[in-house]
Amino acid sequence: MDTVRYGSRGNGVLLLQLALKREGSYRGELDGLFGTRTLNGVRRFQSAHGLTPDGVAGAKTNAAAEPYLSGYIRVKLRPGDSFYRLAKRFGTRTEALVTANPGLDPADLPVGAEITVPLGFPVVPTDAPFSSGLLGFIAEGLRARYPFIGVSEAGRSVLGKPITVFTVGRGDARVLVAAAHHANEWITSTLTLDFLETYAAAYSAKASVEGRSAAALFGRVKLILVPAVDPDGVDLVNSAISKKGFARALSIAEGYPDIPFPQGWKANAEGIDLNLSYPADWEEARRMKFAEGYTRPAPRDYVGSAPLEAPEARALYELTLREDPDMVIAYHTQGGEIYPRYKDIEPEGSAEIAKAMAEVSGYEVAEVPDASSRAGYRDWFIDRFRRPGFTVEAGRGRNPLPLSSYGELRRDNFPLIVTAMEKAGRKKA
Ligand SMILES: [Zn+2]
Repeated sequence: MDTVRYGSRGNGVLLLQLALKREGSYRGELDGLFGTRTLNGVRRFQSAHGLTPDGVAGAKTNAAAEPYLSGYIRVKLRPGDSFYRLAKRFGTRTEALVTANPGLDPADLPVGAEITVPLGFPVVPTDAPFSSGLLGFIAEGLRARYPFIGVSEAGRSVLGKPITVFTVGRGDARVLVAAAHHANEWITSTLTLDFLETYAAAYSAKASVEGRSAAALFGRVKLILVPAVDPDGVDLVNSAISKKGFARALSIAEGYPDIPFPQGWKANAEGIDLNLSYPADWEEARRMKFAEGYTRPAPRDYVGSAPLEAPEARALYELTLREDPDMVIAYHTQGGEIYPRYKDIEPEGSAEIAKAMAEVSGYEVAEVPDASSRAGYRDWFIDRFRRPGFTVEAGRGRNPLPLSSYGELRRDNFPLIVTAMEKAGRKKA
């Protein structure tokens, strides 16, 4: 986190506001504007944490604030400490401590050892715009709080951001969920990560998720989640990109004055549409998009100069080949539709799965519009593997969907994901 002070604005301020809100020192908006309320919040936070209350968030204040983004702290055990007492002291639950410290016997805690203390709130915020910076804290926090979640990198974006991959579950059936192929559909990152955390919490509490036993799903399915295929584009749309990245995108956007900037941006940082990047009738996609005028880097709809030219698409392509999934779901917004086919290819079982997903979400199973039926991730997956692959156009409204629509997204899509996992698990069993 960078040093921010009165008058600063941007994603650094927003992350600070989120941290202070969770900690309790700040009660204002998460708007990225460092005004009087944020100033007072920083002073309150500094006083509460033994720091000089100068209202400037520099290295020490940021270091004290970061646990409120990653959702955990490390604590050295003192004589007399128990999980019960620590839970009371840090406002968390005993079970969360047991989950986060699987190597320790709660009845015999070694004095002097450092343990992970999860803080009493979910790591994934559903009230803040998503960014690659936030994803870094989420990845660190979920790994610490739920050591059974695997975190790795499938590759790097144009601007060097990790394409983060989460894995959970030890079943034979592999379900790969990819979100935010398109920058201004970033709310799908929030959605899929919130699902991951909810599922992990249910599993560790031996509870259910959407009415199904989390342990049963965990035993049958390996869930592979790529929450942000286009981290740079997401950063651009949410004012979290570097100055250089912004300037480059702006110069591309200036050639397309009819597309709102940056809110209409779907592409990666080089102006390639990642969901027109896969080797599935890519030449025909190119011909069609060129005819529409997308003949050079653009905020959307430019296919690139060759399939998989964009490092983000290549990373997901290679991950998919390695993981060999039984099913994929590509999350987009919006429209409340599920696309189960590629051209006339409908893999075995996919009609039934799509119908079940539609039933629990209230979405419609739809024919893919001809203009978007080539060179997409689902197209390529179905063509290559002949296994069920779905695009879900989640939510209704106008992209980017606002966070005020999040409750509805969650309500409709958590059961959809669980249904997909259950179907994949049953098929494999
Ligand atoms: Zn999309």
